[in-house]
Amino acid sequence: MKITRLETFVIGDGPEIDPDKGGVEPLACVRIHTDEGLSGLSEVFRVPPAVVQGTVGGLETHFGRLLLGQEMTHPERLWQHMWDALIHTNRRGWEIIILGALDVAAWDIYGQMLGQPVWQLLGGAQRGPFQTPAETSSTEVVPYCTIVSDVWGGESMFQQQVARAVRLAELGYRAFKVEPMKSSPHDVVELARRTRAEIGPELTLMVDVGYLFNDVPTALRICRELEKLDIYFFETPFPVDSPEPYARLAAQTSIPLAMGEHAVTRWEFLDMIDRGRISVAQPYMSTCGGLTEAKRIVDLALARGALVCPGNWSTQILGAASVHLAAYSPITPFVEFAAAEVFDSPLRKELQAAGFPVRSGAISLPDRPGIGYELPVDLMRRFRVG
Ligand SMILES: [Mg+2]
Repeated sequence: MKITRLETFVIGDGPEIDPDKGGVEPLACVRIHTDEGLSGLSEVFRVPPAVVQGTVGGLETHFGRLLLGQEMTHPERLWQHMWDALIHTNRRGWEIIILGALDVAAWDIYGQMLGQPVWQLLGGAQRGPFQTPAETSSTEVVPYCTIVSDVWGGESMFQQQVARAVRLAELGYRAFKVEPMKSSPHDVVELARRTRAEIGPELTLMVDVGYLFNDVPTALRICRELEKLDIYFFETPFPVDSPEPYARLAAQTSIPLAMGEHAVTRWEFLDMIDRGRISVAQPYMSTCGGLTEAKRIVDLALARGALVCPGNWSTQILGAASVHLAAYSPITPFVEFAAAEVFDSPLRKELQAAGFPVRSGAISLPDRPGIGYELPVDLMRRFRVG
């Protein structure tokens, strides 16, 4: 089976959409076609669509030159083939993210070729009774809902985010991450306190402050308060350019520190786990360098006593790939999930409805060959923006 065509297209809720309010910004997707009729799909989060369109296509494009005519073998070989071509370019940035998306699409085809869901080919379900949450069986993956608000800080933020958490808890979701972005230290603690009070002591609560601090003492004062609220992890207190403040905070708080939404390659994760002392790595299945690279990140984290909770503030096209990693990974209690039920985005709703169903707050291990995500046929007509 050979790769014969690389297709790109762009979908979105519209040009004016604010992704920080839950809308789907113009999102490039890639599809790899083969001469035997099988194709693989992925999306390319946070890469300008024109960059994807300019580098993924015919023989005149960077990735077209690398992939067209290639034999469809184990995706790891194709990954290495693409990676070797990056040695003399930037090796990071948009290039590795696009490589990662193409790797996910290659896994999608590879699974269909062998008639197996991708998690089987990653190593089979290695989820056990130890790292998975107590109420979860080893045959399901648990999403945590990331919750944002239309405004940051103060009463409006508290009310909107708490209401969204409560609504999702009523729908059966089991874990929630509130996002007091651009907020004062007081408001960070207050949002967590009110959310915990409303959802009760049993459900899981995380806090993401989105790179809010640069000094360790301020972050530590907040952690001291959050420790009373049973916070599962504290995400990105600092910019991720240096692991030093993470290591200093980690040494002084019992709350696991998390990062990784924009981290690429196993090398960045390795540095943040070893030098930054983070306990929760959050690779995006495309951004980190693909499912191939995400599996390596699991292996490295496993040996170092860290967890991997795949990040995904994008759609369920990418979310489906996260579920396969989690189904395989023995150290993945949760995957991130932008639950469409509380956001005003028609596209997000449709893409979620086409994805793996969430029942009683959990996703059963997928059984269709490949990734198993089918883009609804008429969706392109209504949401294609490029
Ligand atoms: Mg985040």
